Amino acid sequence: MFAEILTVGDELLTGNTVDSNSAYIAQRLTERGYWVRRKTTVGDDVGEIKTAVREILARKPEVLIISGGLGPTHDDVTMAGVAEALNRRLVLCDDCLERIKAFYEKLYREGYIDDPGLNEGRKKMAYLPEGAEPLENTEGAAPGAYIEHEGVKIFILPGMPREMKAMLENEVLSRLGERKFIQRKLLAEITDESKLAPILSDTLQRFQVRIHSSPKGFGRYIGIILFGEDEETIEKAKRFMEERGIRFEEGW
Ligand code: ATP
Ligand code: MG
Repeated sequence: MFAEILTVGDELLTGNTVDSNSAYIAQRLTERGYWVRRKTTVGDDVGEIKTAVREILARKPEVLIISGGLGPTHDDVTMAGVAEALNRRLVLCDDCLERIKAFYEKLYREGYIDDPGLNEGRKKMAYLPEGAEPLENTEGAAPGAYIEHEGVKIFILPGMPREMKAMLENEVLSRLGERKFIQRKLLAEITDESKLAPILSDTLQRFQVRIHSSPKGFGRYIGIILFGEDEETIEKAKRFMEERGIRFEEGW
């Protein structure tokens, strides 16, 4: 059950914005039991987005989450890039247009903007790849999109972290299946990763688990994350390592 993440934005490539969205999405997917196998970042460019999406689809992830570039400006071209990648047209979503209209009318009434009308930029946000289901944006104007394409669930979310998070929680997680992988965080009372290495290798050979390890706690511990398909497998792997002399504390 693996997933990929694609973040879009020139500001991510220049380093002007730190790509916190992909970290957040990765964390939530991992908690849900997905194995995030790759993260990709491209600029605001239709060709780059199209190529990246095609490369990702060729790897056949179960889920692809895309974030960024849904706004009203000329450089927000994610929907166009995805549509090209999938050989679909961009089509007007009437409901989306209504919502966008209502969104700007509300901002106008509240005194945030001078003009409530639907200009080109605002209208542009109502175009989604043909066959896409709109995802509601409770925090902003641009709708997201959900597309099932050749067995891959594709979600397109805004770049603004507040909007992205709300849409991920409200619209994406509910459309994902039951959790499969489970992760368990342990602290191994050992400071030298090289001594732990052969034990981890043996564990990986014997059990259907993945293991991440990193130094923790000022030279006292190595933090271990055990990923497995069920509690029993994880428990067995843990016990195997304990039999090889590792002492664990739970959590970190
Ligand atoms: P908007 O409707 O706000 O224009 P959008 O979907 O077009 O939304 P972007 O223009 O790509 O989003 O980004 C809006 C803001 O969100 C950027 O200024 C940037 O600060 C922030 N942002 C975008 N992508 C990320 C990311 N991956 N991680 C953190 N912040 C991001
Ligand atoms: Mg952008």
